[in-house]
Amino acid sequence: MTVRTRIAPAPSGYIHVGNARTALYSWLFARQQGGVFVLRVEDTDAKRATQEGFEGALEDLRWLGLSWDEGPGPGGEFGPYRQSERFEGYRAATLSLMESGHAYRCYCTADEVAARRARKGGAQGYDGHCRKLSELERSELQRSGRPSAVRFKVPDGRTISFDDVVRGRVETGTEQIGDFVIQRSDGSPTYLLAAGLDDLLMNITHIIRGEDLIPATPRQILLREAMGATDVPVFAHLPLLVDERGRPLSKRWGDVAVRSYRERGFLSQAMVNYLALLGWSYDDRTNIFSLEELVDRFSLERVGRNPAAFDENKLEWLNLHYIKQTEPGELARELMPICAAAGIDAEVTVLEAVAPLLVERLRRLDEAPPMVRFLFQEVAPDEKALKVLAGQGDYLKAVLEALENLPEWTAQAIEDRLRELASERALKPKQAFQPIRAAVTGTLVSPPLFESLEILGRGRTLQRINSLTAGQVG
Ligand code: GLU
Ligand code: ZN
Repeated sequence: MTVRTRIAPAPSGYIHVGNARTALYSWLFARQQGGVFVLRVEDTDAKRATQEGFEGALEDLRWLGLSWDEGPGPGGEFGPYRQSERFEGYRAATLSLMESGHAYRCYCTADEVAARRARKGGAQGYDGHCRKLSELERSELQRSGRPSAVRFKVPDGRTISFDDVVRGRVETGTEQIGDFVIQRSDGSPTYLLAAGLDDLLMNITHIIRGEDLIPATPRQILLREAMGATDVPVFAHLPLLVDERGRPLSKRWGDVAVRSYRERGFLSQAMVNYLALLGWSYDDRTNIFSLEELVDRFSLERVGRNPAAFDENKLEWLNLHYIKQTEPGELARELMPICAAAGIDAEVTVLEAVAPLLVERLRRLDEAPPMVRFLFQEVAPDEKALKVLAGQGDYLKAVLEALENLPEWTAQAIEDRLRELASERALKPKQAFQPIRAAVTGTLVSPPLFESLEILGRGRTLQRINSLTAGQVG
């Protein structure tokens, strides 16, 4: 049997970290088992699904390195992989469930259902009202043109059970499951039907998803059975993601899109490594895993049941680790869009030169723009820089002279000369170097000074010091 897993995002926006974790675990498991990873886009809700959201979701998965074997793009023999392209199939399946007596039309409006519930003292769910309609009542309602949804007829008196790889045996009595809607009155399929049918048609063998979907599982097992399936896939429901205060992460959707971490300068290796640890562990000590190592070591059996707390400090710690490991050229390419977003028209070769100076200082790539801005733009000194510059006119003139006459423009030569000047004037290093940093970079935060000056070049260095001594600083 070939293992087949899937990720099924609903593209109403970008991929959320919860979905990204599900995608990662499904991908890892498929890769490790020599199986197939399927991407299915659950875009049946036309109001929420946009083309932009669709493309954004694909882009996020690509960024994480989770390539799919079947789905939009590569295609595959079990398509379509966008649910919006399978509406006819869902309708046909609904019709055949009605013909085989597993489903029926429900003419109740939401108000009617609510009113009956209230009369029964706040009962939950659907009361099966239309299940009991006579043929005559049914055809009259149909003729009257009343809109109707289609509900699945949940069998009485059964217990639906499945062995969840993470949670063990899960049992649900069918008395706890009301007849649920499989087709809305506008003819569109519900998630329960669409995903249930797709999992069946796509021969998905392992359904890995968030534990918020546990209630869907017995319903989808019943649907499969009614649609003639003889097997049940393996289920693994992943623990809830919570924030540092234990609240479900999905409540703060906006800040937990994978895209927003990317924009804030997290590397995809750090993100993948971090997501892997959100619910899974290898042992108590090892925290750093590349994607390849994860393929080797991951196992669903080591996924825990307890809620997994999203800890941004740990993510930053991992990010720092991966930034240090990144080649300067690669880091420069990563920094290009981050600089662009900060309004800096950077050059990749200059970023590559400065990258080795930055790696030790960055927890996130978005900390880089303030440190490199001076390499690409004239910078007016900020408030702190101005304070340091006050009264330094004479000293800066001496600096200017010293640097003008340097035989070679290297960090070492610059350093030697400036240290010499500092001792001539009996200045402590900080007193000597902060004004130069302020003059040239406009800030007091920059990469190491001498290397920065080398990269900036003699011409621009002198010109910036000169423009300050020429006027602003007394
Ligand atoms: N579209 C669902 C979601 O984004 C996935 C449901 C499933 O995995 O069955 O949560
Ligand atoms: Zn009804």
